[in-house]
Amino acid sequence: MVHWSPFVSLNKRYPWVQLAGHAGNFQAGEYGRLLKRYCECEQLCLSKLMGDILRPYVPGYYGVVQRDEQDYNLMDDLLADFDSPSIMDCKMGSRTYLAEELLKARERPRLRRDMYEKMVAVDPGAPTDQERAQQGILKPRYMQWRETLSSTATLGFRIEGIKRADGTCNTNFKKTKHREQVMQALGDFVDGNIQILKVYLQRLEELRSVLEKSQFFRTHEVVGSSLLFVHDASGQARVWMIDFGKTVPLPAPLTLDHRTPWIEGNCEDGYLWGLDNLIDILSTMLPP
Ligand code: ATP
Ligand code: MG
Ligand code: MG
Repeated sequence: MVHWSPFVSLNKRYPWVQLAGHAGNFQAGEYGRLLKRYCECEQLCLSKLMGDILRPYVPGYYGVVQRDEQDYNLMDDLLADFDSPSIMDCKMGSRTYLAEELLKARERPRLRRDMYEKMVAVDPGAPTDQERAQQGILKPRYMQWRETLSSTATLGFRIEGIKRADGTCNTNFKKTKHREQVMQALGDFVDGNIQILKVYLQRLEELRSVLEKSQFFRTHEVVGSSLLFVHDASGQARVWMIDFGKTVPLPAPLTLDHRTPWIEGNCEDGYLWGLDNLIDILSTMLPP
């Protein structure tokens, strides 16, 4: 699903593009800013990030505003400085649900026929004999299975959507799983432009080194957050972290390295492992 809306910025009118989430979650703001439907978790994260070394890698945050009785978080529109940008949303991490969501899904175990049907529609061979006999599956099993469809479980990130400068959009990457498929999609995204790839790679390497030092990052479980890639014909290319709706502080003194594989209870999210893989894939796309 891709949403286009003609946002009016200070001195130009450009189509704002949203590659994920619900259409109603965003509103145009003034001065190259935008409003995202309020979420307390995101507010807390963005506020803390404004005082962290990660600040240059997240949209500037300006607090909570109200419009038509709805609260919003006000932040920079990252597309504002680009002309006809190409955009990619990459969801980071080796799982996209919080540990607490898994616990909740287990609370009252119920066989879900709807989830069974969704599973069969995608992969008729996925249900076990028992699940087939019951014509239903448990939600935690469904949540874990879903992560294995894309590259989330195997590479620690997945492409959510791509919008190219020529206007073509693709948000159908749910089964883009293998390294070669990801490389194909990334190559398409930059239209074979090696220079743009180089700038992205450099920005990701910078981001990685900052993440490794960030107090915020060490002390938060970062789930369902994305890297937003933006470039245009001028050769300008940048990457930011967005979407902190499922980024939660860890109970002190717990910290994460974001690379250790997740086992229940350790809260690891695989964010840096995914970034390592993404950097490695981009590197192999460049000529030696
Ligand atoms: P979901 O949780 O389903 O991913 P969401 O409602 O939390 O969705 P986001 O993921 O934060 O929304 O954003 C959805 C899309 O909106 C992004 O993929 C991107 O295209 C666009 N977007 C979000 N924040 C910004 C921003 N600050 N500047 C420009 N575009 C943005
Ligand atoms: Mg998102
Ligand atoms: Mg979100």
